[in-house]
Amino acid sequence: MLGLMQDQPLLISQLLEFADRHHRDGEIVSRRVEGDIHRYTYKDLAVRARKVANALDAMKLQFSDRVATLAWNGYRHLELYYGVSGSGRVLHTLNPRLHPDQVVWIANHAEDQVLCFDMTFLPIVQAVHARCPTIKHFIALCDADKLPQDTGIPNLTSYEDWIGGASSDYVWPRFDENSASSMCYTSGTTGNPKAALYSHRSSTLHAYAAALPDVMCLSARDSVLPVVPMFHVNAWGIPYSALMVGCKLVFPGPALDGKSVYELMESEGVTFAAGVPTVWQMLLGHMKPAGLRFSSLTRTVIGGSACPPAMINAFRDDYGVDVLHAWGMTEMSPLGTLCTLKNKHLTLREDLQMAIRLKQGRAIFGVDMKIVDENGQELPWDGKAFGDVLVKGPWIVASYFKGEGGDPLVKDSNGIGWFPTGDVATIDEDGYLQITDRSKDVIKSGGEWISSIDIENIAVAHPAVAMAACIGVKHPKWDERPIVAVVKKPGAEVTRDELIAFYEGKTAKWQIPDDVVFVEAIPLGATGKMLKTKLREQLKDYKLPNA
Ligand code: AMP
Repeated sequence: MLGLMQDQPLLISQLLEFADRHHRDGEIVSRRVEGDIHRYTYKDLAVRARKVANALDAMKLQFSDRVATLAWNGYRHLELYYGVSGSGRVLHTLNPRLHPDQVVWIANHAEDQVLCFDMTFLPIVQAVHARCPTIKHFIALCDADKLPQDTGIPNLTSYEDWIGGASSDYVWPRFDENSASSMCYTSGTTGNPKAALYSHRSSTLHAYAAALPDVMCLSARDSVLPVVPMFHVNAWGIPYSALMVGCKLVFPGPALDGKSVYELMESEGVTFAAGVPTVWQMLLGHMKPAGLRFSSLTRTVIGGSACPPAMINAFRDDYGVDVLHAWGMTEMSPLGTLCTLKNKHLTLREDLQMAIRLKQGRAIFGVDMKIVDENGQELPWDGKAFGDVLVKGPWIVASYFKGEGGDPLVKDSNGIGWFPTGDVATIDEDGYLQITDRSKDVIKSGGEWISSIDIENIAVAHPAVAMAACIGVKHPKWDERPIVAVVKKPGAEVTRDELIAFYEGKTAKWQIPDDVVFVEAIPLGATGKMLKTKLREQLKDYKLPNA
């Protein structure tokens, strides 16, 4: 017997319609690329998102066609979130921190048809447009009178011109809630970047979960600042949850330095903020010497990389701000766990509470997790046994876009597929996950991935290099920085500086290794695979020159 409830698909456009009806005067504040502050309401957002949908119709874009963005957090980007996905197209948030060659590869793989970009990223678009044959329309996210001439980019239109002529009447279409809504590429351990393809259903369920009290606890009383970029896993779902709860939204645009973020927090009464540790380091680094205080901030969610204990302490002890440590990944939309205490912990001594807060937290309903040994056997939740973290749930990838990388799931004895996260962790008796290591071969610097394979491939392209292995080394500001261990070819010579210079132009500047370590040999496993764990062990006393 089926239940007798209304069958209504979960669609992203419903969030917008709801906000338009129930939070119409809710404020959205954005620092623009031009430097000024822009203000409007959810009602204005809804009007302009409908214009975007009509403008896309006028371009004859089909259902599921990809519309790419290269953009900061701001109101126009939010309009694209809703206008693109709501009308049935797929929003593809490109990461502007990548090297132009990587952007080209990804845009071609996604077969993007339209590219909307902030003026900051004009040089990237100029460098890539001729190599992206699927992109027919280039839209500059600027006022009509700010559109530069002679850019060399064909069919370049200003966003305001593009939507200016479009009608604001639009009926959001109804379709299968499992239809794709947005996509985000992540640099994989092996091979090329792979895309997580989110659906309307997965994004809506994730938005519900993100707002829960033991997750981000978002409400209509909050003023929310997502510093985490909208180009990185949908800014952790905040652009969706915000419309559900009707909080004030504050977008930092391109100004992510400590001073700008602090000033925006104060002027807009921000109560809740989200970002990677590096951003908060810059914020605290600005506040401490100047003796500044927060007047409204009460909590911040920090994730994307392990949050250093000193940062949790500084926020709590010096500023009275609760830090919520979070863990997740692109393939998980991204939220998996969040660290909040349970009722029974409230009477614990401060240092014992602190030991819990440092962990990555408890699973959110919707995320099943387990840790397994090398044979796939589940390990106990005792806070000691550590193993590979596997996850499953309705907002976790089943496979990558275009089937890239084959079937990623690991089947359990009941034939149920679990996604291997590439993280290694313990889980304690209360279900708190603590990441201890990473089995995947990538480096995370300032919250952004660096593919060790790309770094190695460039090194071995140098005529004097026989073999190269790239590993991440702890760094106080960036969490990790890459270094490359190199075996020289017999009789060949290359210096550290020559090799570093060899990287120039071949990868994004911030992805260039900080150092080269010349070694006699790189440890290899039985199958000839480089044993990075052993190499890390060999280099355990190594200190970065610039840290
Ligand atoms: P991304 O797909 O870029 O969001 O990166 C996800 C990966 O970042 C995870 O698989 C972890 O390796 C790492 N990560 C995310 N959050 C944390 C955290 N709180 N502590 C440690 N590592 C984290």
